[in-house]
Amino acid sequence: MKAGVLALQGDVREHAAVLADLGASPVLVRTPDRLAEVDCLAIPGGESTTMGRLARRYGLVEPIRERARAGMPILGTCAGMIVMATEVVGGEPLLSILDITVARNAYGRQVDSFEADVAVRGETEPLLAVFIRAPVVEDVGEGVEVLAELGGRPVAVERGHLVAAAFHPELAGETKLHRRLLEKVG
Ligand code: GLN
Repeated sequence: MKAGVLALQGDVREHAAVLADLGASPVLVRTPDRLAEVDCLAIPGGESTTMGRLARRYGLVEPIRERARAGMPILGTCAGMIVMATEVVGGEPLLSILDITVARNAYGRQVDSFEADVAVRGETEPLLAVFIRAPVVEDVGEGVEVLAELGGRPVAVERGHLVAAAFHPELAGETKLHRRLLEKVG
């Protein structure tokens, strides 16, 4: 299976490594042609504003939206979650494919970065979640399921073929959410 990683900016290699560990063939996606080849897509953590600028420059925004509409499974982590959201507090949404409201860098300066074990729905083992200047999920729309919560806030969500996490499973070598992504490929 060809598992795409949006390779504009951010922790692309780490996502590719997790997908390869799970037996998929990672494909680095920088063009619409490459996007057309893949069965699913991981959108990495990094800086959502930079990723957005580059995605526009490379003409990837509409093609990703179209594939999402057509049911391609997508996993976004941290900045990846932000670019999937329909609402970004004080900012502009990019892909607008997942009905959630996120606030960037909203965990506050004193907790810029932290790790936590989180329970994920459907998993017996907790997942080690690495948060780095993570977005806070302020609201989830109808039909969006909360997969994991921390301190009463959603930190991983799912809607149909879309999965998003405020943290970085890829930095801890966590495979659970990527496995979920691959399982969604029909
Ligand atoms: N703070 C970043 C943003 O706003 C996200 C951080 C991350 O992906 N680790 O895009």
